[in-house]
Amino acid sequence: MNDFRKLGALLAAVCAMLLATPAAAALRVVACEPEWAALVRELAGERAAVFVATGPMQDPHRIEARPSLIARARNADLLVCTGAGLEDGWLPVLLQQSANAKIQPGQPGHFVAAEHAELLDVPRRVDRSEGDVHPEGNPHLHLDPRNIARVAAALAERLALLDPGAGGEFERRHADFTARWQAALARWKSQAEPLAGVPVVVQHKSWPYLSAWLRLREVQTLEPRPGVEPSASHLQKVLAALQGTPARMVLVATYQDPRAAQWLAQRTGLPVVSLPFTVGATPGAGDLFGLFDDTIARLLQGAAR
Ligand SMILES: [Zn+2]
Repeated sequence: MNDFRKLGALLAAVCAMLLATPAAAALRVVACEPEWAALVRELAGERAAVFVATGPMQDPHRIEARPSLIARARNADLLVCTGAGLEDGWLPVLLQQSANAKIQPGQPGHFVAAEHAELLDVPRRVDRSEGDVHPEGNPHLHLDPRNIARVAAALAERLALLDPGAGGEFERRHADFTARWQAALARWKSQAEPLAGVPVVVQHKSWPYLSAWLRLREVQTLEPRPGVEPSASHLQKVLAALQGTPARMVLVATYQDPRAAQWLAQRTGLPVVSLPFTVGATPGAGDLFGLFDDTIARLLQGAAR
């Protein structure tokens, strides 16, 4: 009898432990890109278990819906993606293969960041025929930190809708994040003052939001169309155009092949500045704050050369 009582007490203790494990109560979140995983962590802390579909050194326009990712999507309560066509090459397959009704478009478990920001470079007509990977406008909206604030507000509400028991905690964390973000915005604005008006060449249309925010002037693009590899003839045109309208640096994301930028650098003497593009891509970009700290530091360094 005594043994049974001991066993019962042990089982009760184990059950209590299991119930106390944060993972047991947490929302299961699949983030399409590392920046949204980082934002979920800011807003949900231990209340969310986050899985990221793309790594910081992967091209988010092009990944495969691999089996491990499909398994995560199958059990997810919430999917957080950029939208605006960025994931068109792989997300529809993932959603279909997941057979998870909760995360399908239109459901509360399907969160699209692009619905909460104003898109830049929206074309007058959609045309993918020449390989354009930005048919709905530029999707790289996370690189304007003011958009991060907009998306954070909507995401905090969505988290509360899906996990009402933790609503107060999401609200408190969102207020705390917002206070820290607003302070960082003011700091970044003053640090980046010397970048206003600086002309740059970009590899891919990765930075229009960053450029609009910091008032960088993008004078040339190495890709002839978004997502189309730079060709020799296009690079010659860029080189010729730079003679009339010079630039100060060439911007590439760490995940991109830098050969075209290096080709141009050899012929112009321009520095190639490699920027993190997302959280985790450089040692300095460990979280969303670090992403902008490191980006601005690298731009200032490039402009000073
Ligand atoms: Zn792109």
